Amino acid sequence: MIKVSGCISEIKSQIKEWKRQGLSIGLVPTMGYLHEGHQSLIERAVKENDRVVVSIFVNPIQFAPGEDLESYPRDIKKDTVLCEQTGAHLIFNPTPEEMYPNGFSTNVTMNGLTKELCGKTRPTHFGGVCTVVSKLFNITAPDRAYFGEKDAQQLAIIKRMVKDLNFDLEIVGCPIVREKDGLAKSSRNTYLNATERKAALILSKAISLGKEMVKNGERSSAAVIKAMTEKIETEPLAKIDYVNIVNAENIEPVDTISGSILAAIAVYIGKTRLIDNFMITV
Ligand code: AMP
Repeated sequence: MIKVSGCISEIKSQIKEWKRQGLSIGLVPTMGYLHEGHQSLIERAVKENDRVVVSIFVNPIQFAPGEDLESYPRDIKKDTVLCEQTGAHLIFNPTPEEMYPNGFSTNVTMNGLTKELCGKTRPTHFGGVCTVVSKLFNITAPDRAYFGEKDAQQLAIIKRMVKDLNFDLEIVGCPIVREKDGLAKSSRNTYLNATERKAALILSKAISLGKEMVKNGERSSAAVIKAMTEKIETEPLAKIDYVNIVNAENIEPVDTISGSILAAIAVYIGKTRLIDNFMITV
C-alpha cells in the first residue's frame, strides 16, 4: 500500500531512510484531483527514480482573494488510487497549518519572469508557487522534480529559481497531455458545463493555428498574436485574459520569433479561466 502522510517530520525521516539506502528520489508537486496530465509526470518520475513522492496540496498562498481556493476540486481517495496504480511510493498531503504554522514569515519572490502572462493578472501567484515549491524541495530533497509544460511560465520560473538559489536537483519538463479533442487536461476543466466544455475547444484551436503559422515561416509575433486573438474572438463564451509571445527562458515579450519562444494564452470560458500554450524553437 502506498503511504500517505501530511506530517513533514514523517516525510523527512522516510526520505532520510531512502537516502541512507542510496535510493534516488523523484518529486511530482501537484494540487491534486489528478488526471492523465499529472499521471504522465508520475510515470516519467517512476521510470527515472528509485522512489517517487507525489505532493498533493492546494496551496492557499498562490491564490488571490476571490480566486477559486475554496471551490478547487479535491479527491484524495481517488488521487491515492491513481498514485498507487502509477507506481508512486509516497503521497505528501499536508494541511495548510502544517505548511504555514502560526508565525510563518518567509517568502520566496522573483523579480524577473513573473511580470508577463499570468503574472499580470495574478501578481501574487508566482511568489506563492516559489515559496511552496522551495519548501517541498527542502522537505523531500529530490534528485529530480517533474513539472508540466502546461504551466510553461511556472516551469521557466522554477528552473530560474533552482539556478538562482542553488537548489541541488534537476527540473524535468513534461509535454502537455490533452483530451482527444485537443483541450489541455486540467483539474479546472471540471468547472465547465457541457456548453462551456465545447466552447473551451477554442483554446487548443488557437494554439494549433499559431503553431502552424510559425511552422510555416511567420516570424512576426504581432501577426501570430492577431490571428490567435481573432480565432478566440469567434467563440462568444470566450473572454481573453492574454495572448502573448515571449522568450521561453526569460519570459520577455519578443517582436520577432526566433530561438525558443513560448506562445501562451489565458481565456475565460464563462467564469473558468483556462490556459494553454505552445513552445517552439526556430
Ligand atoms: P496542478 O495540480 O494543476 O498544480 O499541476 C501539477 C503539475 O502537473 C504541474 O507541473 C502542471 O504543469 C502539471 N500538469 C497539469 N496539467 C497537465 C497537462 N495537461 N499535461 C501535462 N502536465 C500537466
